[in-house]
Amino acid sequence: MNDQRVLEVEQKSPVSEEDNLIIDTVNKFLERDVKPFVKEFESEDKYPQLIADKMADLGLFGATISPEYGGLGLSAVTYSKIVENVSAVWMSVSGIFNSHLIMCAAVERFGSEEMKQYYLPKFASGEIRGGIALTEPDCGTDLQSIKTKAEKVGDDYIINGTKTWITNSVQGSILAVLVKTDTNIKPAHKGMSLILVEKKHGFVARKLKKLGYRGIDTGEVQLENVKVPKSNLIGEIEGKGLQQILAGLELGRINVAARGVGVARASLDDSIEYAKTRKTFGKPISEHQSIQIKLAEMATKLEASRLLTEQAAKAYDSGNRSDLQAGMAKLFATETALFNSTEAMRIHGGFGYSPEYNIERYYRDAPLLAIGEGTNELQKLIIAKQLVSDN
Ligand SMILES: Cc1cc2nc3c(=O)[nH]c(=O)nc-3n(C[C@H](O)[C@H](O)[C@H](O)COP(=O)(O)OP(=O)(O)OC[C@H]3O[C@@H](n4cnc5c(N)ncnc54)[C@H](O)[C@@H]3O)c2cc1C
Repeated sequence: MNDQRVLEVEQKSPVSEEDNLIIDTVNKFLERDVKPFVKEFESEDKYPQLIADKMADLGLFGATISPEYGGLGLSAVTYSKIVENVSAVWMSVSGIFNSHLIMCAAVERFGSEEMKQYYLPKFASGEIRGGIALTEPDCGTDLQSIKTKAEKVGDDYIINGTKTWITNSVQGSILAVLVKTDTNIKPAHKGMSLILVEKKHGFVARKLKKLGYRGIDTGEVQLENVKVPKSNLIGEIEGKGLQQILAGLELGRINVAARGVGVARASLDDSIEYAKTRKTFGKPISEHQSIQIKLAEMATKLEASRLLTEQAAKAYDSGNRSDLQAGMAKLFATETALFNSTEAMRIHGGFGYSPEYNIERYYRDAPLLAIGEGTNELQKLIIAKQLVSDN
């Protein structure tokens, strides 16, 4: 992004000096330790272990965990700026710490003090990394239909079921698993609970192939008679799992919106650069009106996405539920990522279709944003529900 626009963004957003230092440090890490390696790891769908280790050194696995538990305690505003910058370089890297942080948020908000004392420092340092396991082969949007069951036997839960599309399940060692602890109760969410399950307890994960978001692991997880101490139930009381994970997903949606801003920004920046150098009919294509119109639309949608994302992050930081703002930001910013990556492909002509350029990666990564953390169809339902209930 050109310096003038970066400056304008910084002026619009109140970020402390200390947080700006963290953002600068992450930017340097992206330039030095990520950018040169993206093509290699992406094209081979290879896990970037060194990058993940450096992220641990930077404290990113504890970005939003409170300092009292060893985290950086960043605000959602600062966190979303970091996610935007990471995603403008390589969206997959944001997945390594984002679903981990949704799990962390659920533990910090709802876990017992004993659970927090034990797990959060290890989560913050990156010693234990993981994610969230909600989706099943037969349901993703309709989470109340999950079939994975946890049965209490003595001091343990015995868990059986299959989860799919679970990010960090192969390389990570812990998952917050959404289960049914009561299959008869109505409504179904009253029988749903969130349980921390470690790999040592016995879950098995198989890596899945993907269109984009490559390099990081997304897997199918089998839980067969997995025995977990009952103290791993988040919040100690059964039946609260759906609310707990939905609260965590607010931050998740802000993060996905920020990813959208990052991908949309990278698509625009690469397009501006290309349009200034590619010549047709004796002049740079940036001088053709049809290209100028594309750039103008891309830039306007990008700015609107960034403002919506910042607004959602501020609402989250205020401590109130921010479903409406997070839903709007997620919807608009991710549709913008899809729009901008497609327009970037057109601006680049045939070269956009080549792995030599980053455009085809943005084009493959962007659709996930419309699916993950609640599909965009679901976001519209969430937005409408809030509008109706507020009036
Ligand atoms: C790369 C990748 C990583 C992922 N990582 C994770 C992860 O870490 N953890 C995790 O738990 N899940 C993860 N997921 C799963 C993801 O969250 C789900 O794919 C998503 O929630 C949608 O669920 P589904 O695929 O079952 O689609 P479905 O729920 O079957 O939906 C299919 C279509 O129907 C639409 N639809 C459904 N219900 C309605 C309705 N009521 N009204 C209107 N339209 C509707 C949807 O919007 C969609 O267009 C990941 C997925 C991918 C692809």
